[in-house]
Amino acid sequence: MRPYAIAAPIVLILSVASSVAPASAAAPGEGFDVTRYDLALTPDVANKAVSGRETITLRAMADGLSRLSFSANALTIDHASLDGAPVAVTTRGESLDFDLPRPLARGRTARLEVTYHGRPARGLEGTGASLHTSYFACDWMICAQERFGDKAAFALDLTVPAGMDALAAGERVGRRPLPGGGEVQSWRTPRPYSAYLFGFAVGRFVRAEDRAGGVKLAYLSDVADADALRRRFGETGEMARFFADKAGVPLPVAEYGQLLVAGREAQEAATYSVLGLDAVPAAPGDPAQDWAVAHELAHQWWGNLVTCATLRDFWLNEGITTFMTAAWKERRHGRAAYEAELAMARSRLDKARAAGFDKPLAWDGTYPSLGARRAVQYSKGALFMDRLRTALGEEAFWSGLRRYTRDHAGGTVTSADLQRAMEAASGRDLDTLFAEWVFGAPPG
Ligand SMILES: [Zn+2]
Repeated sequence: MRPYAIAAPIVLILSVASSVAPASAAAPGEGFDVTRYDLALTPDVANKAVSGRETITLRAMADGLSRLSFSANALTIDHASLDGAPVAVTTRGESLDFDLPRPLARGRTARLEVTYHGRPARGLEGTGASLHTSYFACDWMICAQERFGDKAAFALDLTVPAGMDALAAGERVGRRPLPGGGEVQSWRTPRPYSAYLFGFAVGRFVRAEDRAGGVKLAYLSDVADADALRRRFGETGEMARFFADKAGVPLPVAEYGQLLVAGREAQEAATYSVLGLDAVPAAPGDPAQDWAVAHELAHQWWGNLVTCATLRDFWLNEGITTFMTAAWKERRHGRAAYEAELAMARSRLDKARAAGFDKPLAWDGTYPSLGARRAVQYSKGALFMDRLRTALGEEAFWSGLRRYTRDHAGGTVTSADLQRAMEAASGRDLDTLFAEWVFGAPPG
């Protein structure tokens, strides 16, 4: 996501499972594991509303599981059942709780079915003529927003109004025309993803296409024509080749989409990104303006494929991506552009420090503001990657990044995983450097 602009009160979902002896209530990744979300969704484009029928397939990780907790949202739940038996639904603070008719035993698989409708408070942006999601997936469906560690398959049957096209997380695997116009498009993710990466868009989109190796690049918009899309996104293929080389992993999707909308949006989803006209230069080649396409594309590897296990290590998503954006600029525009990008990160961190705020990258506390969080997790994170690069040298550093990315592709990571990969690649003990920057305590 973009470094400084989304209005995101990032709230940790508190699970009560860990502190209660007879494990009864739990959240995804802690007490139970969601293996897939199957969603049939009908968006109301004009009113920025949705109605949905969702099946959550889950497995109990502890005995006596009697309550399933997801993120509270503004939706109205019409009906909920577990394997056919009715389930009581209660909102408790930040938590949307499903109280089960009977406790589940460890290892037991169950299906929670929920029908709902409403107007999401966040996460759904629209002009009246088109609609796209942005970050807060668990505002328009039932999931757990900050439970990054619980990756799950996502299958969406999306009702698309007549005359409109759609884009969603995953690959489009089917289209079924509806009587009276419109169609249902079926989308499936190629692998499990964290819930914040689920998303969709519907509208009267113009479409342009390109290729990067074996990957199709699709550019869509209802605010620009096909020529403008090709101009603005024309360097995507070259960026993808650069990131794939540095990751040691090809762009991990069959098709990568970019949806161009009005405004300053910059938000990654599982297999596509949403970018605002004001965040993307009208033509490539301006080093002051071309961060957004690179940043959101880099998330396909760092963030989406290799994902921080918890919010504590969110810097692994955003700091590495911010650094890789600078590395792309170095490749595209030369060393001065790399230095300029890092200087910007340094000034953001310095500003936080001048206000009395600085924390280790893996600090687990509550940030006083979104700006403070970003000064650490985005800016200081990028500066630490540059520090590692300088300390280890080109060969060991990039080899370490490849090892980290390859070893954890499709999985989740903590800061210790990055340290291990960099140590293995360089043959050096990096305890002191990681203690100073990441963990905040001297080794031993
Ligand atoms: Zn980001």
